[in-house]
Amino acid sequence: LMQISIPLNFIGFIYREIRQGLADIEEMFALLRVPAEITNRENAPNLKVENAAIRFENVTFHYDANRPILKGIDFEVPAGQTIAIVGPSGAGKSTISRLLFRFYDVTGGRVTIDGQDVRDVTQKSVRDVIGMVPQDTVLFNESIAYNIRYGRVNASEEELSEAARMAQIHDFISTLPEGYDTQVGERGLKLSGGEKQRVAIARTILKAPPILILDEATSALDTHTEQEIQSALDQVSRNRTTLVIAHRLSTVVNAHQIIVLEGGLIAERGTHSELLARQGLYASMWDRQREANEAEERLRAVREAD
Ligand code: ATP
Repeated sequence: LMQISIPLNFIGFIYREIRQGLADIEEMFALLRVPAEITNRENAPNLKVENAAIRFENVTFHYDANRPILKGIDFEVPAGQTIAIVGPSGAGKSTISRLLFRFYDVTGGRVTIDGQDVRDVTQKSVRDVIGMVPQDTVLFNESIAYNIRYGRVNASEEELSEAARMAQIHDFISTLPEGYDTQVGERGLKLSGGEKQRVAIARTILKAPPILILDEATSALDTHTEQEIQSALDQVSRNRTTLVIAHRLSTVVNAHQIIVLEGGLIAERGTHSELLARQGLYASMWDRQREANEAEERLRAVREAD
């Protein structure tokens, strides 16, 4: 009995380790939605980033050949500026961020970073310069410190807490009995959507990438959380070339440029005030959202009064 119990324990240990590893890898793939067909060109050089300016030139894209998603998209984001992409659900907003990150290759036109077509350089070198704050961050079944350090594994304690402070999550972590050592994820502490997003922001601050993609959560956050996240995002995107996939229009007000996507084309573009003045699609989206927000606030007030 003794003889057999040791190997069994050991197998159990290995099994758990592997299972954990697989779970994380699956989560990563689900998160990244990595298609198999993207490959490096032979002898592809690494991307060389100087200013991190982004251009989409007449970009077309489809997932399925019989259903075009993007039908000719042109825009540029000068170094250090913020562009926001808005539009109805399913318009292709997240698809644009996936093309920039090169999860997929364009089916026409091109995407460049500092003049280099992302298809001509190594995938890894593209992804290394982009920080991604996804809609729904999947956390590893590890400590909160591990999850933030994932942005840069050799970051010091000070850098870690500084990043957490900037992401407005440090104070929350400090209230936990085990602080930064608290286990999170499936088998640990469950964090709210807003908390998870702030962990992702802290991770991105540590990575300090020249380009940032922010895919806002669709789920409604309360006004206070939303403001905290907004100020965290403002911190990270300062002086970085930033692409915001915006679901809540309140976050696009300060973008240098807003693009309104509809039916695979850019329907309108301009700053917030320019677009309001146009009284077009953006203006009507803005009105509708303001009404929805007001209704939600009234509902909250009623609930809180109960
Ligand atoms: P939302 O605001 O709802 O997040 P979105 O504007 O970001 O929407 P995308 O996620 O870019 O929209 O999707 C654009 C269209 O492409 C949608 O109709 C979607 O169903 C389709 N689509 C997205 N991903 C895939 C995929 N992997 N395979 C096939 N079709 C897809």
